[in-house]
Amino acid sequence: MTIVLGAIADDFTGATDLANNLVRGGMRCVQVIGVPETLPDLNDVDAVIVALKSRSCAVDEAVADSLAALEWLNELGARQLFFKYCSTFDSTDQGNIGPVADALLERLGAAQTVMVPAFPINGRTVYQGHLFVGDRLLNDSGMQHHPLTPMTDADLVRVLSRQTPHTVGLISRAVLAQGSEATRQRLADLSANDVRHVICDSVDDSDLETLASATVELSLVTGGSGLGQALPAQYRQKGWLAEISEPGRLEPASGRALVLSGSCSRATLAQVDDFLTRNPGGGFAIDPLALAEGEGHWSEAYAFALSRIEQNAPVLIYASADPERVKAAQARLGVDKAGHLVEEALGKLAVALVAKGVGRLLVAGGETSGAVVSALDITALRIGEQIDPGIPWTQAQLKPHSAPLSLALKSGNFGGVDFFTRAFEVLP
Ligand code: ADP
Repeated sequence: MTIVLGAIADDFTGATDLANNLVRGGMRCVQVIGVPETLPDLNDVDAVIVALKSRSCAVDEAVADSLAALEWLNELGARQLFFKYCSTFDSTDQGNIGPVADALLERLGAAQTVMVPAFPINGRTVYQGHLFVGDRLLNDSGMQHHPLTPMTDADLVRVLSRQTPHTVGLISRAVLAQGSEATRQRLADLSANDVRHVICDSVDDSDLETLASATVELSLVTGGSGLGQALPAQYRQKGWLAEISEPGRLEPASGRALVLSGSCSRATLAQVDDFLTRNPGGGFAIDPLALAEGEGHWSEAYAFALSRIEQNAPVLIYASADPERVKAAQARLGVDKAGHLVEEALGKLAVALVAKGVGRLLVAGGETSGAVVSALDITALRIGEQIDPGIPWTQAQLKPHSAPLSLALKSGNFGGVDFFTRAFEVLP
């Protein structure tokens, strides 16, 4: 078995975002959570994405985990490797984008890679090496206030230069406008001058197509999920990838539906309201303060969900709350404990209710999704069709020979207002 693309993603929902775009480009994808101990079923799979938690951990750990993923993907025979990070280039002066890219290049014995964070349909573009979010420079986009990776400089050549001892260069839009051959030549010229990392402009999808064409032969490319949508066409042109008619085809979904929400992002709060309006009496709010008092609150939530499931009625269990309520809980319990109580409760509900027949599970919240996936002991997800931008249905095989569990994992601000209802309507 040989896969075409092996990707290493620095966080969980970022991995799913890339996988979603690869499916849209025509590749059959499996996402694994860390390097799996046993080989998942990779029959009819063109791309494997390893989801790590390496965005904001210590540099050494990010490098070690990324190299372990690289070894594993090389064993699978990946023709090209993709290091996926956020389209807002989330990193600090210490890393982890520069050190991880350097370590991967060194292990591959490669002299150069490209850095393509842009995702134009989501408003992330790069011009003259400067990253924009919509019409704002990165350092004026809100990202300058990020708690872990504040981005206070939009000049990516300068940003990356602080993270690597190697030379960082630029492919500007003017070069891209001359086409892929000129772009390839420019990369070769930069390489001849020992430029190891090349930040690439891209303001629209045609720039990404030019870049995909110019970089398809590189052993390592790096970037956001935008480049992922442009690469599969190049693999087909090379004859590495067949025309796949339904790359996101999953097995028919079965089992009862359940929505679990631990996200307090604005989009999720609107989705919770929309669900409760459509399904009066269909929701149960869990409260970290009540969870801290003992088992009773969790048992109530479980009993509520079970009775709705037995009636085959839509059900939502949510900790999602407005900022004042969240702050009040955090003030009493501490930020970590409040979050942990919620994540543990939702993870336990997922396990208990899947055992009672839930087969279609929607989880809202990036951290919450991670907690639910690990409570369910899921190590691999097959990626299906997109529900809304960045969110596909996926399937996990929990037990051999049983029906797979269908999962939609939504990070906070993703999805339309009716997402908790519509997601189930589009699931075959
Ligand atoms: P998002 O993708 O919207 O950021 P996450 O799941 O990543 O959502 O993060 C939300 C965090 O907030 C989780 O750790 C969750 O446990 C925590 N949380 C959810 N509801 C509450 C609440 N009512 N009070 C305090 N913390 C909460």
